[in-house]
Amino acid sequence: MECRVVGMWGGFPKKNGPCSGYLIQHEGISLLLDCGSGVLSELQNYIDLNDINHVILTHYHYDHFSDIGSYLFSRLVNTQLGRASEELCVYGPADDGMQKQVEAVAYSRFTSFNEKSQLEIGPFTCTFKRNIHPVETYSIKIVCDSKSIVFTSDTSFTPDLIDFASNSDLLITECSLYEGMDGEGSGHMTSKDAGILAYQSKAKRVLLTHLPHYGDLNDLVVSAKKQGNPNIELAESGILINL
Ligand SMILES: [Zn+2]
Ligand SMILES: [Zn+2]
Repeated sequence: MECRVVGMWGGFPKKNGPCSGYLIQHEGISLLLDCGSGVLSELQNYIDLNDINHVILTHYHYDHFSDIGSYLFSRLVNTQLGRASEELCVYGPADDGMQKQVEAVAYSRFTSFNEKSQLEIGPFTCTFKRNIHPVETYSIKIVCDSKSIVFTSDTSFTPDLIDFASNSDLLITECSLYEGMDGEGSGHMTSKDAGILAYQSKAKRVLLTHLPHYGDLNDLVVSAKKQGNPNIELAESGILINL
């Protein structure tokens, strides 16, 4: 299984730097995890949009889903032009507005999930954990060929995240805030929270993501590593991780 970081900025994109998006691939099957602001343009550096048929949205904040409308329209146009032949399947928390938006566009389909769901998407088995965040949001675990990726999306720290992320081959953990800031009140994690999760879950490799637009990002890594897991780095647009 491969994971390409498409974008990783929290809240809003940077110049040429998209928000949340991760391309997961195995044996020719591609799954896009989140489709935040700026992702659709950046994604085309790595893959033809018509070669992805599955998009999972972890929640409906713009930095995680705002490019899905354009993606749906691209599938409509490219199907009519004969360049795409399969539906674009969008998965997300149940939401009438999103379901209508997806189903209003031909050649696309919506499927909702919750904490009890297990989605089988090609070779990927996807399970979910409800997060602590102002809107319904899920962490996701993707298992494929005996490897696992856990993506926290947006959440405050909770001890049950440690179980959910236990022994993952790749943990992509949000790290919106610097150590000492208020994660609990904001629905996000500090670098210390992310470090505790990385250490206690025994994740083999860790990417800090959903990064803040201020401060020295290297301080996040230093702070997270202090909790005991040395295999922690910053997510960066374009990096490819082979598992
Ligand atoms: Zn976010
Ligand atoms: Zn959010």
